[in-house]
Amino acid sequence: MKLLSVIVPCFNEEETVADFYEEFIKNKAFFDSRDLDYEVIYVDDGSKYKTKDEIRKLHERDEKVHMVSFSRNFGKEAAMYAGFQHAKGDYVVTMDVDLQDPPALLPEMFSYIDQGYDSVATRRVTRKGEPPIRSFFARRFYHLINRMSKTEIVDGARDYRLMTRPMVDAILSMKEYNRFTKGIYGWIGFETKWLEFENVERQKGETKWSFWKLFLYALDGIVAFSTVPLGFASVLGILFCIVSFILIVAIVIKTLVLGDPTSGWPSMVCIISLISGVQLLCLGIFGQYLSKTYLEVKDRPIYISKEEF
Ligand code: UDP
Ligand code: MG
Repeated sequence: MKLLSVIVPCFNEEETVADFYEEFIKNKAFFDSRDLDYEVIYVDDGSKYKTKDEIRKLHERDEKVHMVSFSRNFGKEAAMYAGFQHAKGDYVVTMDVDLQDPPALLPEMFSYIDQGYDSVATRRVTRKGEPPIRSFFARRFYHLINRMSKTEIVDGARDYRLMTRPMVDAILSMKEYNRFTKGIYGWIGFETKWLEFENVERQKGETKWSFWKLFLYALDGIVAFSTVPLGFASVLGILFCIVSFILIVAIVIKTLVLGDPTSGWPSMVCIISLISGVQLLCLGIFGQYLSKTYLEVKDRPIYISKEEF
């Protein structure tokens, strides 16, 4: 008998925890038909007590429901990592608890695993129900990161993904502190089948991602999977050297031919502020990478769990 581990990160999701289980368990007949056992691992990412109580209730009903509870909110990436560490399954699937990742897709996903794929991933082809400004910036982000990084990061990819054990072990072997799972999946490779589905809106509760949180997450993703920004300084430096050289030659010639009436004070100020701006920008980019390196070097744990069953 094979085992399927389901990893479900939850952050203040008392409204959806039970609904998720109900929806997931509708696949029971399918699991029985292929002699598949299951375990559901809810990773409580530092929610208020209510979410934990809901998970405890489910555990009393079905001992195959487990929980890893964090000491505080460590973020979804940390929650997924904890899930991977605790999953014992031959197959592992990660899903959102808000039913935006329909559990009804599981049988279809397994049909591709049977065809020999290492992983079946999902992407939404529409962003229906999402604020247009958010969709716009999301698209720009994917465009940018794919130009800057050799690792392919798929637009619209959800964290809903079914994987076989070797792939899970590969993910676990990447122990970085600054985790960007979408990039990690691309980096480790493996044969992946992409399933497309229309965006499903959240059933209950509210999104836990503010625009600002998403923006910082996008920056983290770029820093984690591309070193292109570090090259900006060199490119701009070369460009400014060439321009200044041409200007110097022009000014020398002009002075020799026309004499040297004192002028150019405003233009000097403009040039100085432009170049200091560029220098600070480059310093800021270095700072980003330095701070990430700093956090990696500290080697802190990715999460701290307070309670498990
Ligand atoms: N989540 C989490 N930690 C966080 C934020 C979110 O574990 O700090 C979980 C959340 O409970 C949900 C999933 O990540 O299961 C996706 O979150 P949400 O639905 O709020 O994001 P959206 O679908 O709007 O992108
Ligand atoms: Mg959601």
